[in-house]
Amino acid sequence: AKVLVTGANGFLALHIVKQLLEQNYIVRGTVRSAAKGEWIRSKFSEFGASFDFVVVQDITKEGAFDRAIEGVDAVIHTASPVPDNFLGTYDNVYIPAVRSAESIFKSLLNSPTVKRVVFTSSIVAMSMAGAHERGYTYSESDWNDGASSWVKEAPHDKPHPRFYFAAKTDAEHTAWNFYEQHKAEMKWDLVTLTPPYIFGPILQDEPNFSANLVYRKALEQKPADQVGLHAGFWIDVRDCARGHVLSLQKEEAGAERIFITGGALTWQEVYDELQSLNIPEIPKERVDDGDVKDVANTSKATGILGLTYRTLGESVRDTITVLRQRENQK
Ligand code: NDP
Repeated sequence: AKVLVTGANGFLALHIVKQLLEQNYIVRGTVRSAAKGEWIRSKFSEFGASFDFVVVQDITKEGAFDRAIEGVDAVIHTASPVPDNFLGTYDNVYIPAVRSAESIFKSLLNSPTVKRVVFTSSIVAMSMAGAHERGYTYSESDWNDGASSWVKEAPHDKPHPRFYFAAKTDAEHTAWNFYEQHKAEMKWDLVTLTPPYIFGPILQDEPNFSANLVYRKALEQKPADQVGLHAGFWIDVRDCARGHVLSLQKEEAGAERIFITGGALTWQEVYDELQSLNIPEIPKERVDDGDVKDVANTSKATGILGLTYRTLGESVRDTITVLRQRENQK
């Protein structure tokens, strides 16, 4: 079968492409330049002609994906701006995310070949930090509609993390609204995934925001009273990619929104796991992590996808080991 992966040179997408090729799929990627496509091709040269690419310079244009979707059996749409520290604007984050969703779904409407579309959303489309009392259980019924309302009122030129939260929320709404409106006429069904912070080994040369985050945060001196606090949810990039591939493969995943996560984390837990790497900046003394953490209901991911997760330790150690190797190669 032939699968289109949009934004194929991204951190997550490269792992998706790799796993698909390893499972004998034919993969087509979209990238913003031929140089990026050639770079992926050389990265996966052992798979020869099983990888090809289409350059889509502007993903927001109507018809941008027409050529890319020709003849594919499935689509995984990952392309979306992920700004450092989430700090983007309406124009550089919100608009590309939402318009590209509109564009790709419009192109898919009449596809005679596509049977499944997997859309990479995010936990930020489920909730904003601080929106619930600590200990809250997150599940697929959560939507970050606070971010959607905020974006309508906010000044559009000042960078703010909520542009990213609203972008992911409204892009995913766009996907579901389109699907609900047109499902009777279409040959494909939709799966959306809402992963949290993605950690794990990078395949690309330069670290992306979330892989770098675990590295930077681990080395940062944090006030001791915060180290033991709930710091969000995480997933390893290899498991996140596997979740996307399984979403193509499992018939029962059709028309489902699925929350995939390895669990909640505190920085103390990350420090505990990193002690074996002997990083001088990581504090040796422990702060008791007695905080109440938020809870993830991942029963759909388990029940429908059968997804299992690496441990936090493996994920953060592999993230840092690979980032250090990249630094040493410079
Ligand atoms: P990366 O930044 O590594 O990759 C993003 C990809 O999208 C790249 O191919 C990039 O192309 C492309 N892209 C970004 N902006 C545009 C644009 N304006 N026009 C065309 N292409 C664009 O991000 P990740 O791999 O981390 O993220 C992949 C997906 O996963 C995104 O949808 C993101 O929202 C989602 N996600 C990520 C999480 C994380 O922690 N990393 C957590 C939850 C969800 P180029 O290289 O040319 O810029």
